[in-house]
Amino acid sequence: MATDVIVVGAGPVGLMLAGELRLGGAGVVVYERLPVPPRESRGASFTRRTAECFDQRGLLGRLGEVESTESHLGGVRIDVRLLDEDHSSVRGVSQFRTERMLEDWVAELGVPVRRGYEVTGFRETPDGVTVAFDGPHGPGEDTAAYVVGCDGGRSTLRKLAGIDFPGAQPTRGFYTADVTGIRTRRRLTPENLPGGSMVLSMDLENGVTRVVVHERGMPPRDRDSLKFTELADAWQRLTGESIHHARCRWLSCFTDASRVAAEYRRGRLFLAGDAAHVQPPAMAQGLSVGVQDAVNLGWKLAATVTGRAPDGLLDTYRTERHPVGRRLARNARAAIELRLTGDEMDPVRDVIGELLAHKDAAGHLAGMLSGLGVHYDMGPGDHPLLGRRMPPDQHLTLTNGTDVRIAELLHTARGLLITTQPEVHERHADEWADRIDTITATWPPDHHPELDTVLIRPDGYIAWTHPGTHHDLTTAIHRWFGTPHTSTARTMTASRPA
Ligand SMILES: Cc1cc2nc3c(=O)[nH]c(=O)nc-3n(C[C@H](O)[C@H](O)[C@H](O)COP(=O)(O)OP(=O)(O)OC[C@H]3O[C@@H](n4cnc5c(N)ncnc54)[C@H](O)[C@@H]3O)c2cc1C
Repeated sequence: MATDVIVVGAGPVGLMLAGELRLGGAGVVVYERLPVPPRESRGASFTRRTAECFDQRGLLGRLGEVESTESHLGGVRIDVRLLDEDHSSVRGVSQFRTERMLEDWVAELGVPVRRGYEVTGFRETPDGVTVAFDGPHGPGEDTAAYVVGCDGGRSTLRKLAGIDFPGAQPTRGFYTADVTGIRTRRRLTPENLPGGSMVLSMDLENGVTRVVVHERGMPPRDRDSLKFTELADAWQRLTGESIHHARCRWLSCFTDASRVAAEYRRGRLFLAGDAAHVQPPAMAQGLSVGVQDAVNLGWKLAATVTGRAPDGLLDTYRTERHPVGRRLARNARAAIELRLTGDEMDPVRDVIGELLAHKDAAGHLAGMLSGLGVHYDMGPGDHPLLGRRMPPDQHLTLTNGTDVRIAELLHTARGLLITTQPEVHERHADEWADRIDTITATWPPDHHPELDTVLIRPDGYIAWTHPGTHHDLTTAIHRWFGTPHTSTARTMTASRPA
């Protein structure tokens, strides 16, 4: 077999996944139908947890200075200043720039991205998959142990596999354009207008402004028949401002469809990102949740193809990420109804606004929207960090006195055992040294003072704590990292990148 994993689609999710797989030692190739990377940009923001995912691989800094934005659900503002941690999103980074950053990263890791290759079919064989494509030199086939569809909301792979994509049908359209030459007042978060309409105008990069308009009742439109004047007319009716003179660089219409794939895995096929879930862009979540899918799946699939994975590890991709996708779809519907239902929704908006003045309610909602609230089942225990992400900004002091951020320790996407008691964990450190880095350090005094040891998975989630987990460390390591040494013989072609 030429490679371990074929990733279909070089959007943000496919590229992130390819990098994660490669860090985990898998051989990976990406097939992308577009011959060159796109210059237009759908997204311009990502959530705090996605910023952390980039940070823990050393990628956030590659995007330069980033700005933060406030958090809201369908226009009902969440005061993130009430919260102990920063839940704000990152804004003003055009999606094409995130994609370019990721494509550079995977190139450095040695991942081939085959552009101009459209995947047209696949079939499962007893020990792998065969993928058919149309490429620049005509049709061809490639084989791998697994294939992952990161091929967007209209996913060819999902359709070929016959995986259901249930959810809400599109009923509303959002006319969207990237323009230059307008001076209208900026509405950085969407502005709700009486009667259930909305407008948004935010600066992207290089003098480009994104304008979005929904006038109550506006149905979804085929983007090919949509004219910029229709958008500008609606804008003028709603705001009194004329943008007819703008130079339109890109025009599209998005809908409020919200769907989640019934299965995230079928046999040797996985789905991630928009291929697995689509929702209205109202909450700027699609890229963000998709990147987190990739970070969840990457190390598990890499451990599988390199012969290190414990039984059942791959199934946890679905059990952990499908509920996140379902919640995303529900929240997106809630946000759309809050935003686009007319005055009759005002009392509900008021009640939610009142609830959100309470720290617990604000924390719960902000946790869902930022991704910081994600909690995975790591077994019984009562430590508040168990199953949650380790904040990558957390500092430690190493035995030689060096100060280090957790993010730096996660760059290689290996497990981490951080302990104040190396002698107690010597055996574990030794036996799993090929997949877990043991770090002897002290925690800062204000960080959970009772904590002495944590086991962190490559995706940054805490799988075991001492004190606070009701089973022992060996059980936790077996569950997430498999059996030590003797069973790690590689059957695949890849090796860890230098
Ligand atoms: C107006 C708008 C604004 C948005 N704003 C935000 C935001 O601010 N923040 C946010 O998090 N999300 C946002 N989103 C959502 C975000 O753009 C998507 O969720 C994100 O692009 C999904 O990434 P992906 O990699 O899963 O899919 P895509 O980005 O769609 O990438 C899929 C790739 O697969 C390729 N492909 C498809 N079929 C094949 C095939 N058969 N063979 C080979 N290649 C194939 C495609 O060419 C494409 O490159 C927004 C969306 C819209 C519409």
